[in-house]
This record gives sequence, C-alpha cells and structure tokens, in this order.
Amino acid sequence: MALEPLYKMKVKCAYCENVFETSRVRHSLKKAYKTDTDFCAYYKTMNPDYYVVRVCPACGFASTENFGDKLSDKQRKDFESQIKERWVPRAYEGERSWEQALETYQLALLCAQAVSEKKRLIASLLHHIAWLYRYRNDHEQEQRFMQYTLQEYIRVYELEGVGANNARLLYLIGEINRRLGNYNEAVKWFSRVVHDKKIMDGAMIRASREQWQALREEMAERKLEPTEEMKAAEQGM
Ligand SMILES: [Zn+2]
Repeated sequence: MALEPLYKMKVKCAYCENVFETSRVRHSLKKAYKTDTDFCAYYKTMNPDYYVVRVCPACGFASTENFGDKLSDKQRKDFESQIKERWVPRAYEGERSWEQALETYQLALLCAQAVSEKKRLIASLLHHIAWLYRYRNDHEQEQRFMQYTLQEYIRVYELEGVGANNARLLYLIGEINRRLGNYNEAVKWFSRVVHDKKIMDGAMIRASREQWQALREEMAERKLEPTEEMKAAEQGM
C-alpha cells in the first residue's frame, strides 16, 4: 500500500497563536532527481518546496521554519498595518497547485519584509519565487526575481563579509550574476571563492571553478572577448 505523499502538521501562529494544520511532503519523497547550479531542485512527484510556507488562515501571517519564533511589539504593529488589516481569511490546506505555492511565497515575502526579517531569509524567499517561475519557463519573471535575489544576497554579504560559512553565499552571488549575463561580476565572485584563504569549502570551490569555466564557454559561444580584469583573475586558477 502506498503512503499518502503529504502528511499534516500542526503549527502555532507567531502572531495570533491560532493553531492550524499545514501539509508537508513525506521525507522519503524529498529526493530531487535533478538540481540546477543555483540549487533549484526538481522532483518526480511532489515538490516539497511548495509546502515550506505555513499560512495562518486566521490572520494571514505566513512564515517558514526559519522565521523568528516571537514577534516584538513593533513587528506586530507593522504586520497588522501592512497585512492583517487587508487579510481575507483563506486556508492553504492539502495539496497546493503551482499558483497556490506562488501565493504562499509572495505572502511569506510580504510578511518577512513587514517584520524586517533577516536579509538572508528574504533573499531565500525571492530565490524560491524565481525558481517557481523557472519551473514554468517564465524567463522574464525568473530573471526579474533573480535580480532581486542578487541584490539581497549582496546585502547579506555586505553585512557579514567573507566568513567561514559564506562560501555558498559568495558562490551564489557569482552564479546568479552568470545567469543574468553579468560575466565580469560573476568572475569577481567566483574568483573570491577560489582564492580567499578563509574559504575551506571544497564543494563550493569546485563549483566556482566549474561555473567559471562554463562562463568562459558561454562567452566564447557568444563571441565575447574576456576583459583584462577576467584575464588577471584567471592567472591564479
Ligand atoms: Zn495567525
């Protein structure tokens, strides 16, 4: 007998303390059969990403596990004035369509922005929205959200710098630049991952080298000459 792919979980709303049910994909089905170079994953049956956002049907507070557990008075007021007042009660129970998944991410993004959540979390929500458009081959919207994602990841970098755990962040900034056709910028970030002595993450160093190579091939195909800056960066490859 096959197990139902979704199971229900109870969540307590951080704003109104209402307890509601949200669906999750069973762990055994969470294996991606393909992952893009910026970690967008593809699944055969159900996409677990569709169920990451939990939306409180009573007040509209939409969050993920990575949101803070408690809201300050200011956050509560900001959420009330920006989202709750306009909330039309609705639930996102059971199976979610692509459209519903997109709505839940858009809601989570609005909530995260209203309560000034961590930049890294906002960047990740934007990145997920870009992936949703990628699944649909909506290139224009995907690029638009990749651009927003890039801006947020750069802000995270400006706040945190090159820490031991930021190899993935730097790699992503490079890779998103590459995907947006900003080759010069992409090389700068890949080069940081490869050359910065503080970075020990072998997988990210390898990925940066690979995508740097992919970028060169892409430029050659498009008959673009590498800039002097790129050539200089390549000296240490
Ligand atoms: Zn609530």
